Amino acid sequence: MRMGMRMLIVAALAGTMGLWAAAPTGAVRTAADGKLHVYFMDVEGGQSTLFVTPTGTSLLVDTGWADHNGRDADRIVAAAHKAGLKRIDAVLVTHFHDDHVGGVPQLLARIPVGEFLDHGPYRELTPDVAGNYAAYLKALAEHHVRRIVMKPGEKLPLPGLDATAVTADWKVIDHPLPGVGEKNPYCANLPSYPHDTTENSRSLGIVIQFGRVRIVDLGDLTSDKEVELMCPVNRLGTAQILVVSHHGWYPSSSPALVDALHPRVAIMDNGALKGGSPATFKTLKNSPGLENWWQLHYSVEGGATWNAPDEFLANLDKPKDPQAPDAGYGLELTVSQDGSFAVTNDRTGATKRYAAR
Ligand SMILES: [Zn+2]
Repeated sequence: MRMGMRMLIVAALAGTMGLWAAAPTGAVRTAADGKLHVYFMDVEGGQSTLFVTPTGTSLLVDTGWADHNGRDADRIVAAAHKAGLKRIDAVLVTHFHDDHVGGVPQLLARIPVGEFLDHGPYRELTPDVAGNYAAYLKALAEHHVRRIVMKPGEKLPLPGLDATAVTADWKVIDHPLPGVGEKNPYCANLPSYPHDTTENSRSLGIVIQFGRVRIVDLGDLTSDKEVELMCPVNRLGTAQILVVSHHGWYPSSSPALVDALHPRVAIMDNGALKGGSPATFKTLKNSPGLENWWQLHYSVEGGATWNAPDEFLANLDKPKDPQAPDAGYGLELTVSQDGSFAVTNDRTGATKRYAAR
């Protein structure tokens, strides 16, 4: 996890392409506006992303960390309440590292969950991961919540949300998604990526389709698996929105994935000291068609060279103590069926709108 340089270019892009508008803050938003609402909670370098459809179907991808007096679960519940939810229909656990599954017991103590989706038994045979997995199963049993193991190619069992599993437990979807499957030109001249043997490469990754907008979220999937997924043919097609894998840490986000997806906007769930590598920022900077990237945190490693301008950062630098508690601001993405979308920075209340293409 670390970073590099490029504020001027992003600032220029923001100046020429941005449509910023002041947004009301603090208002409870409902799903009744016909849009998909996506809440990127700040779980301090873990992942937790809540999708809420216009009909109120909800999917939470990952739950952040354990401990911290329920900090991450509290932030998730606050976002759920903001979305008008009293329960979460499904929680998808991408993999069994503590920054993704750790928050499950605290979450279940605070809000009902309909079912859990995951990649199957843990594969990284370390005491930490074994403990995470045991705590996960124990919490589900205590709360009598069903668990469903997903395989690549299967649709998530959520009425009203078109979401497809594309990676899970080291496997990738064997056929391209409908209507895509072109040869991927970004597979040429790739480095040889190391073979990842951790839970990261087991991540349960999904593609969400909402109207004309496609959103890709692959958890912490590493580049060796990205290449399997995207080469020699691009099995996913293009995506307007990319949830940057692995908190923007360098072992993920190969050009074979990022460039081929051709995202307009990338959203990075990094922490001040976790993720946000210069190599990843460089890939994003060079990605064709990328208009902006957004970050949950200023990346200390990225420094002035690589971090996006402040308006794209939910939580700013804390130079004296990067690990000090912050306000936990999030980012909110709203997607319309026609292909337009917008990102709101909870810290500033400002919204940037992206017109349909
Ligand atoms: Zn992670």
